[in-house]
Amino acid sequence: MPKKRVEIPDDIAAEILFLSDRTCCICSTRGKAVQIHHIDENPSNNSIDNLAVLCLECHNETMINGGFGRKLNANQIIKYRKEWIERVKKRKKKADEIASIETVTGSTKTIIATDKLVDNIVAYKTNDDPDLLKDYIRNILTIHQKQLVVAQEKWDTGITVKVNGGSYDMIDFYEEVLIELSSFYPKGHFGNQLPNEYFNEIISSKFEWYRLALEPDGAGTGGTIVSTMTGGHVMEDLKQMIIDMVNTLTSSYNIDKEIDFSQWRSDWLQ
Ligand SMILES: [Zn+2]
Repeated sequence: MPKKRVEIPDDIAAEILFLSDRTCCICSTRGKAVQIHHIDENPSNNSIDNLAVLCLECHNETMINGGFGRKLNANQIIKYRKEWIERVKKRKKKADEIASIETVTGSTKTIIATDKLVDNIVAYKTNDDPDLLKDYIRNILTIHQKQLVVAQEKWDTGITVKVNGGSYDMIDFYEEVLIELSSFYPKGHFGNQLPNEYFNEIISSKFEWYRLALEPDGAGTGGTIVSTMTGGHVMEDLKQMIIDMVNTLTSSYNIDKEIDFSQWRSDWLQ
C-alpha cells in the first residue's frame, strides 16, 4: 500500500531549498529543475533532516530497481546532503563577510531587526540612514574591483570548473549586495519572504531560465559550455539589478547630489 503523502509545509520546503541553494545536493549543478526528496522514502515524514534537494536525474538514480541495484541509497544521500549544505553555508558566510554593510562601511550602527536566524546569518535587517547608504554605495565599488581581480584569476585558467567557480563567487557577492541594498527599502517591501530567500529564489530561477534557453534538447545536452554561459549571464543580470537599485535608492534617499550616479555606474561596470 502506498504511503500517505502529507504535503511538505511551505516554511520547511522554503528552508531546505534555501539551505541547499535550490541546487541538487548530489551533482550540485545550478539551474537544473529540482524536487524535494524524502530520504527515508516516507512521504509523510517532513522533518527537515529527512528532506534532500535533488535534480530529476539524480532523483531517478535513487529509484532504479530498488534495493541493491540502486546507484544512490539513503546513506549516500545523507552524506551528500550534509556536505552540500555545509558548502553552501560556508559560501554564503564568506560572501556575507565581504559584502555586508558592517564590513563595507566599517559601521556598527546598523539597526538589526532579526526576525529569524539561519544559523548565524542575520536574515532580516532594515536601515534608513542616508549616510550609511552613501558610504555603502561608494565603498562597494572598491570591494567589487577586488572581487573581480580574484575571479579573473579563475576565469583566466580556462578550466571549466574554475571558470564557473569564479562566476559563482561573483554571483554570491552580488547576491549579498542585493540583500544589503534591499535593507534600505521599507520592511516587507519585497513581499513576506526573508530577503535572502527572496533573492536566492530569483537567482535560482535565472539559472534555470538560461539553462533551459541554452539547452533546447534537454538538460545536459548542451555540453559544459552551457554551465559557463549560464553563470556568465546570471552574473551580468545581477550586476544590472544592483545598478537599478543604486539608481533608485540614491534618488529616494536624496543623496544623488553627493553620489554622481552616472559616474558610479561607469565605475561599477569597469
Ligand atoms: Zn543532480
